Amino acid sequence: MSGFFVFVAGPTRFPNLGHSMINVFGHLNPDSDAICSAVATAWWLNQRGQRAKAWRLGEMNRETQFIFQQAGVSAPELLQGSLKDKPVWLVDFTEPAQGPETLEESLVLGVIDHHRLGGLFTREPADICIKPFGCSATVLWETMSPEIRRALPPSLATLMLGAILSDTIAFRSPTTTETDRQAATRLSALAGIDCEAFSSELLQAKTDIRGIDAQTLLHRDLKSFTLQGKKVFIAQIELASLRQVAELQPSLLHQLETLANETSADICVLMLTDISHTCSELFFSGPARPADSSCRVPGMLSRKKQLLPWLNERLNELRRTS
Ligand code: MN
Ligand code: MN
Repeated sequence: MSGFFVFVAGPTRFPNLGHSMINVFGHLNPDSDAICSAVATAWWLNQRGQRAKAWRLGEMNRETQFIFQQAGVSAPELLQGSLKDKPVWLVDFTEPAQGPETLEESLVLGVIDHHRLGGLFTREPADICIKPFGCSATVLWETMSPEIRRALPPSLATLMLGAILSDTIAFRSPTTTETDRQAATRLSALAGIDCEAFSSELLQAKTDIRGIDAQTLLHRDLKSFTLQGKKVFIAQIELASLRQVAELQPSLLHQLETLANETSADICVLMLTDISHTCSELFFSGPARPADSSCRVPGMLSRKKQLLPWLNERLNELRRTS
């Protein structure tokens, strides 16, 4: 019917890349979204005819292990070696400080994320999918074509559902959107999983800190940021009750001081989040810390949506008064 020739260009954007394997990974100190969504993104790229392999950038926490067990999927390998001139897709982050040291020498081909854009430069135009949803898995789900969604195996649907329940704290976090709920409904049907039972087991695994020492706990979900030119570290520990860390608190605060000294950060924050009572207790170290060394913020669950703007406001006040 049409007289046009559709000329499909080959992979000419990076002609010297050939068919090298795309490395897909989430941030350092990985949470469930960083690992589950990297695995699902690599599968999606493969479905689109690109060779891709998922990696993790650290140990899997108990919650992530639980999700992989439920899915019957083996964990991706730990990323090692240089990324210089290698093609990559970033999942669940763009801040260079949250990635491997050689990230800035790599070729960023694409991003699946739901955080602020923070300092990433690319050599070439990249395929960037960043949406203000509660989870990277939701961004990926929204990016998938209907055909690819239908081909999604139950095991990967389980990983993506696990990531959404983890990031949104089973839809309790203010980061949750209607799109997250809809994606979760579709994914639980594809996975053949009862969302409520899965949520409750997942939250138990998330908040299980038995036998974990203070240093491991502080570094397990630690992220670094640059806020108003200040080097900021924020460690979050999600708990079913603040009583769980009562005994560990002195050692955690000691570790927080050590972190500030060793990294010469301007401010380090420990965020103890009580997911049952929806509040966070904050502790500070470092030269730019607020006058009060700790405070309790009712309603605060999210580092990204609540703590970061809160901290930004405090740093602004400090700047105005100094
Ligand atoms: Mn994450
Ligand atoms: Mn995430």
